[in-house]
Amino acid sequence: MRRDPLGQPMFEKVLIANRGEIALRIQRACRALGIKTVAVHSTADAEAKYVKLADESVCIGPPPPQESYLNIPAIISAAEVTDSEAIHPGYGFLSENADFAERVENSGFKFIGPRAETIRLMGDKISAKQAMKRAGVPVVPGSEGAVPEEPKAIKALAAQIGYPVLIKAAGGGGGRGMRVVHTEAALINAVQMTRAEAQGAFGNPTVYMEKYLANPRHIEIQVLADEFKNAVFLGERDCSMQRRHQKIMEEGPAPGLRERLRDRIGDRCADACRKIGYRGAGTFEFLYENDEFYFIEMNTRVQVEHPVTELITGIDIVQEQLRVAAGQRLRFRQKDITYKGHAIECRINAEDPYTFVPSPGRITGWHPPGGPGIRVDSHVYQNYMVPPNYDSLIAKVIAHGDTREHALARMRTALSEMVVEGIKTNLALHQELLNDNAVIRGRTSIHYLEEKLANQKKNQ
Ligand code: ADP
Repeated sequence: MRRDPLGQPMFEKVLIANRGEIALRIQRACRALGIKTVAVHSTADAEAKYVKLADESVCIGPPPPQESYLNIPAIISAAEVTDSEAIHPGYGFLSENADFAERVENSGFKFIGPRAETIRLMGDKISAKQAMKRAGVPVVPGSEGAVPEEPKAIKALAAQIGYPVLIKAAGGGGGRGMRVVHTEAALINAVQMTRAEAQGAFGNPTVYMEKYLANPRHIEIQVLADEFKNAVFLGERDCSMQRRHQKIMEEGPAPGLRERLRDRIGDRCADACRKIGYRGAGTFEFLYENDEFYFIEMNTRVQVEHPVTELITGIDIVQEQLRVAAGQRLRFRQKDITYKGHAIECRINAEDPYTFVPSPGRITGWHPPGGPGIRVDSHVYQNYMVPPNYDSLIAKVIAHGDTREHALARMRTALSEMVVEGIKTNLALHQELLNDNAVIRGRTSIHYLEEKLANQKKNQ
């Protein structure tokens, strides 16, 4: 530990246990705070520019994630040999793995995120819902805990919640492990199938049941908390534009959401942070329908879409994560948080824009956009090889404007300037969405994109 220019505790050296754009994003935050960085990488990422830009780098294994980015002993040894003080897990990979957080701290390093027990509590969606209910956060109506074993009891539960219901894996994530059930005839089979899938994918067969909301929006609240029970919320993001339960476009503020409603739910979230002793950055995810918020889950890490909030609040969320992990107090109270303008993020993925099939390979032409109000978070460059082993995200383009219309216009211009050659990307889909009347009006539901694509297919 050292002291920063304001005399506050700060790390000397941080190991970044991730790859791609978020590894670069964290590296930038560290450098801005005068922290030395250690990049860990698989052999597939050995040539990546951000690896060369780090102060030190350590190869932690071959391309398959299990053997590198998920290889806990290799990451801990990398921290030991480089004398790192803390580990930033980014998102995905080990970021929400409570055992990893525990191993990191037991090995004498600071885990840049909440305590292991908080991650464990929130990692199980059933215990997370119960904890939120206790903390006064409204949740989606559904089973109190796990779905019972007895078919008769399962049917009674579904009848009580009312069809359609959603069967969800307690250990699920990434939009997987969910099944909608419309009739009693399909119920028992659906529960059994979701259990089997959950066991295979998450090593935990427990499922729970929720009311399947017909037309909700996905609205989430960003929070920030320190070790001293100070917590604030940094406004909301609307992430309703999804395919396969995965987000592709996010914006803030949520179109048409009244500030009073936003502040009310935000206060509940900040309060819940204080009640559970939350530390670091986090996100409360809600479904929003008919002016009501229903908690679905909490992400105990930095999110892909965090730049939207950074642009409207002017707060660097990754730097704040580093500050509170180093033991600093939050530098602002709720009344200091103000919002300016509107921001939209498009996730540019290496994938077919309509079938979503990944398209790894060499990027032979690369021209990112720029200009006022445009931010591009990307680790990619001309001749970069997109490896087939990982997530297909290659860039995030974020546009900020005085109003939503202004941000949309800037985004349209940005995407029209952007060139990615050699691989397929979903740029065309984003361009289409930015000119879509429903998107321009705002307030689309989580089903909008899939319905639109299904209609297009029908009309072909
Ligand atoms: P994951 O951890 O896999 O991302 P979430 O619980 O966050 O799972 O849900 C992901 C998405 O699935 C939501 O954004 C929403 O689109 C959809 N979803 C989840 N729960 C419900 C529900 N009860 N009704 C309708 N859609 C839902």
